[in-house]
Amino acid sequence: MAEISHAVRLSKTTVKKTIDLLTAMKLVLSAGKGESTEEGGKKPELYRFNSNFGYVISIHITPDSIIAVTADLGADITYYRKLEVTAERGLDFILGQLVEIIRGFVAMKASSSEKLIGVVLALPGLADASRGISIYSPHYPSWGRDVPLVQLLRDKLGEGYEVPIFIDCVNRYQAVAEREKGVAGGVTNFIIIDALNEGLGSGIMTHGELVSGSQSLSGEIGHMTLNPVDGPACICGNRGCFEAMVSAKRLRGMIKDARAQGVSSPLFSNGTPDDILIDAVCELASTGDPFCASLIDDVARWFILGLGNVIMVNDPELIIIQGQYVKAGAFFLEKLRDGMRHIGLPDVEKQVRIEYSTLGEERGVIGGASFVIDDFFSKRLVFHSH
Ligand SMILES: [Zn+2]
Repeated sequence: MAEISHAVRLSKTTVKKTIDLLTAMKLVLSAGKGESTEEGGKKPELYRFNSNFGYVISIHITPDSIIAVTADLGADITYYRKLEVTAERGLDFILGQLVEIIRGFVAMKASSSEKLIGVVLALPGLADASRGISIYSPHYPSWGRDVPLVQLLRDKLGEGYEVPIFIDCVNRYQAVAEREKGVAGGVTNFIIIDALNEGLGSGIMTHGELVSGSQSLSGEIGHMTLNPVDGPACICGNRGCFEAMVSAKRLRGMIKDARAQGVSSPLFSNGTPDDILIDAVCELASTGDPFCASLIDDVARWFILGLGNVIMVNDPELIIIQGQYVKAGAFFLEKLRDGMRHIGLPDVEKQVRIEYSTLGEERGVIGGASFVIDDFFSKRLVFHSH
């Protein structure tokens, strides 16, 4: 009590009242008595945050799967489910899957005292968080434009699910994940860059707030033009976009050319499928294969151009690389760090740090859960003081 009172600069009486209230709400639990201090005196009362007060259902629709979890109020995953999405990708089918997942989780928790505090959907494409809309997803084009996903899900779930439902582009939630569980703890200005086999996006945190822009386009750096003259076609219809320059598809073309020219590399010995091609190139580059190292060298060049532009617009303290290039190792990271020194205003020393993410494929659902928990504690939890 004395320790909390000191930390939050409130009187011991106020702290006692608050703790009593939180304990009555079961948000805080009594944890017995601690050791008395060296000077002797009364043993202090101990309390702990009850992270099982409630739970969040966090769902990430990836280009080829649905990752669905329950998370406690510490944003730790308590149950994990992953379903593959194959040929059936229509809106009705996916909505049906979501309803089945959510009902399943709620049924599973029915016998516990945990309350569902919110549901969150992380999407692979443009989303308008404030209106609950999926604007457009290049991975699910059949859904069409401006789909009111939150309302459709509510309608299908029916009664008994009157909790907040959040939606956003997964990259924004992935930025939240880095702040809560990753390498951006305590950092208020940072950007995450996530490069998938197909697609590259970013989540921008400025002064501690997620940036969406006027029409939710902020962070769509995958479609920033880097090579309009002889860059490859991009899925968006333009040429030489950032994501097209670092995609598995473009690497595949370079590999084919090199092979035709008689270059040798262990990469050619196994017919590496596209979805693990970047992983394979990164691994071979880090073990010293000169051809794969040259591919990573090329990719680094485009990353430096792209990141250089991002730095000039946003001036972040930290850039976090997520996704497939995380495996490119120290070799790639050093190239990026070195490149930053020379790009855009080379005479100005840039303080920006570049780090790899330590989070795995659950980064989207962790970030979504953290976002819901933040919202719950900052907006929905109302204290009635008397
Ligand atoms: Zn594009």
